[in-house]
Amino acid sequence: MAQLWTRRQVLAQMGMAAAAVHTLDPHELCCTVAAHAQTASKDLFELKKVADGVYGAIAATRYKVNCNAAVIMTDDGVIVVDSHSKPSASRAMYQQIQGIAKKPVIKVINTHFHWDHWQGNESYAASNPKLEIIASERTKENLTKPDAGVGGVPYIEKQIAALPGEMDKLKADIQKETDTTKKGNLESNLQQAESFLQELKSMKPTLPTRTVGTTLTLKEGGREIQLHVLGRGHTNGDLYTFLPKEKVIATGDALIDWMPFMNDGYPGEWPDTLVALGKLGFEHIIPGHGEPCTKAYLKEQGQIVENWVGYIERFVDRGLTPEEILKQPLEVTKQDPYPIGQRLFMHDERLTGLIVHNLHKRILDKKQAAGAGAA
Ligand SMILES: [Zn+2]
Ligand SMILES: [Zn+2]
Repeated sequence: MAQLWTRRQVLAQMGMAAAAVHTLDPHELCCTVAAHAQTASKDLFELKKVADGVYGAIAATRYKVNCNAAVIMTDDGVIVVDSHSKPSASRAMYQQIQGIAKKPVIKVINTHFHWDHWQGNESYAASNPKLEIIASERTKENLTKPDAGVGGVPYIEKQIAALPGEMDKLKADIQKETDTTKKGNLESNLQQAESFLQELKSMKPTLPTRTVGTTLTLKEGGREIQLHVLGRGHTNGDLYTFLPKEKVIATGDALIDWMPFMNDGYPGEWPDTLVALGKLGFEHIIPGHGEPCTKAYLKEQGQIVENWVGYIERFVDRGLTPEEILKQPLEVTKQDPYPIGQRLFMHDERLTGLIVHNLHKRILDKKQAAGAGAA
């Protein structure tokens, strides 16, 4: 059963003083959108049927990004994969689910520990005291580790610390902006940032109640649902939800319809993990972000990650620093079927910088470790 504690109670349990948590650069945030983008005109989610009683809930663009959810109807209740960046988003999701079937949400599966995939757990726990929350063992660990990356209980404090600065920047941008539409969008984003801050402050971090080591098969009211841990990729604990009869998989951010966020990832191992994923008999993919897609995209996602690693590796071999790499023209060639940089989400230079710095460090560390091993 999920327990509802305040975030300060959870931090106290972890032996952490909130004040001791360092602030973050807002651009560390996974999956940011351009600040002036229109982000509040549509419903929060669009439910797209991918099989009988199985839906991809595709998140609309918001200033603070929400992940997609997979919604699986069973005779006994509803199973939801991932819970977005805040309780108000998962409440909106719950309302949309109730529009299809008036059944309780009995299980929530968290694909990984990132902030935009689990911070809405509490509203499902509030709607059903018997709710089970399932994640991989690594994800459960990451959710309470001080420096696991862009998610987990300590990261709530980091977001709270970073938001006032982010809001000041939005206010300054509003003052400077002369285009009426962009100004309106910035004002909407400022309102969203303010309400997000309030939600973070009252958040009751709701952690997994059950973990998966490698695989777990659930028989749920007429459906078989397999949960798989297949190796490191987007994080060290990515959990895949596979429906063998319906041939559907929910991947979390190991596969997304945008440029993959690699900062907490394992780019050297990620493509192999996607190859292992491909051995499962699915046809339809509900990705962590973006539109539902087919199995054909799996290869492309692996290639995108491989291209990035290869691109940076060549510069590391030549001894270039991340700053020097960033001065090179991004390698977008006609021969390459998956041009580097072309899918970069919102073409955000700061995100490119983060990926380059991160990959440079990882590749260099690996080379040094290999060198030390050979010596
Ligand atoms: Zn995400
Ligand atoms: Zn993620």
